[in-house]
Amino acid sequence: MTPMTTPRRTPRVAIVGGGPGGLFTAHELQRLADRPVATTVLEASGRLGGKISTPRFESSGVRYEAGAAEFYDYEHLGNDPLKDLVRELGLPIRPMGGAAVHVDDAVVANLDDLRDRLGAEAAASLLAFDATARDRMTPREFYASGERGGVATAAAHRPFDRSMAEIADDRARRFVEHLIHSDLATEPHRTSEEYGLQNYLMNDPAYMRLYGIEGGNERLVESLASRVDAEIRLGCRVDSVERAPGGPMIVRWTVDGVESADAFDAVVIALPHDQLGSVAFRGDRLAPAVAAHQAHHDHPAHYLRVTMLFDRPFWRGTCSDSFWMLDRFGGCCLYDESARDPAAEHGVLGWLLGGEAARTLAESDDATIVAKALAALPPAFARNAAPLREARVHRWTRAVSALPGGRSSLPLDRRHCPEPDEHPDLYFVGDYLYDSTLNGALDSAQYVAAWIAGRIADAPTH
Ligand SMILES: Cc1cc2nc3c(=O)[nH]c(=O)nc-3n(C[C@H](O)[C@H](O)[C@H](O)COP(=O)(O)OP(=O)(O)OC[C@H]3O[C@@H](n4cnc5c(N)ncnc54)[C@H](O)[C@@H]3O)c2cc1C
Repeated sequence: MTPMTTPRRTPRVAIVGGGPGGLFTAHELQRLADRPVATTVLEASGRLGGKISTPRFESSGVRYEAGAAEFYDYEHLGNDPLKDLVRELGLPIRPMGGAAVHVDDAVVANLDDLRDRLGAEAAASLLAFDATARDRMTPREFYASGERGGVATAAAHRPFDRSMAEIADDRARRFVEHLIHSDLATEPHRTSEEYGLQNYLMNDPAYMRLYGIEGGNERLVESLASRVDAEIRLGCRVDSVERAPGGPMIVRWTVDGVESADAFDAVVIALPHDQLGSVAFRGDRLAPAVAAHQAHHDHPAHYLRVTMLFDRPFWRGTCSDSFWMLDRFGGCCLYDESARDPAAEHGVLGWLLGGEAARTLAESDDATIVAKALAALPPAFARNAAPLREARVHRWTRAVSALPGGRSSLPLDRRHCPEPDEHPDLYFVGDYLYDSTLNGALDSAQYVAAWIAGRIADAPTH
């Protein structure tokens, strides 16, 4: 392992991006390094947390999740670093779950419902697909799928629409599409069989479970920020990264229109794939290497979140789950946001739209989006609707990856360090390298933090 190029008592590390990936990296580096590290987190916006965001309605102060909705729980299958971290930070969690799909205004929650609503042929077709999916990916294979580090399977190369075409019955195929659309955030032809099957199978608790953080998912960000011993600069947009001739890495940024620069022993780019273009990577080798990295991961997927505050949770008599899938907008998820806070008297519903439906509707104004979301409420809910007090729209166009890891997955070192010859001290962290989730962002941060900590340990200390 190459030691740090600039020997210092206190190595200087810049982390570009103060989202979960950046904060996980700072936290892991602090944990793993054998000496203090001068870490600087450079965040363009006025807040930490990126796509973990728990804002409040203006009219009432009631909280809701505007970005990452839930945490994925793999503890029953093996090591679960994210759950370990949440536990270590002492954050209370609440399990989340939902098994119902609203089809043609009726609830399908089990096989009998499916036969009644879609017919015996559709049920048989779905069961056959389900058996094939489980055969192609067991819970342990599902758990290990992000960790292979470059060993691509046939399923990673085959487009998911081919697997969907194996579902003979049209109604069964649409049912599966609606079930997974808001998790995939893309259309089947834009992703792989492997990622598509993961998103189908994760509806089964044998494969994955879900939880939220009581008091809001953003508590994870607050808790990490309070523990990380780093200089955190908000409102600090990084403009460029390059190597000084024969010297350290130089990071340039702008705050309130004023440009500044500093030298670092290592730089971590903790930006999502769609924001890599906000930074100019300069140098004859670096520029094309990062351009190739971006092109490899340029598979954008889209979300749109619509959240409404009502006087009371008028749907509770009909449904008691944390969320339901609807056959609207190509398949969307409807969260009972107020289930996150059982003591609350208010009612909050959150629509999570994915893929093309999210991308195209996001181009409309907020009032149009809210009206369309309300019109998509299941009739059983709409009949008892309470007065709407406030609605919020959050657009996440291009914000996640439709094909995490890219079309052919690269070895882990290469994923994280696209130009190792002249820039072995420039690392990339992000969920787009693994699985488009917070778990992937943490896995990626752990990998890079361990790498940097190893190089610090090997560096002279004079
Ligand atoms: C609607 C939605 C729902 C989701 N649901 C889930 C879920 O249920 N479970 C789950 O595990 N994951 C979910 N995700 C994914 C999860 O949010 C991401 O895995 C996670 O946010 C990735 O963290 P990140 O730090 O890599 O990127 P981000 O969260 O995007 O953070 C990047 C940060 O970099 C900053 N930045 C950008 N450009 C610059 C620059 N030039 N200089 C300095 N700073 C810059 C940004 O302001 C931002 O703060 C969801 C995502 C969305 C959009």
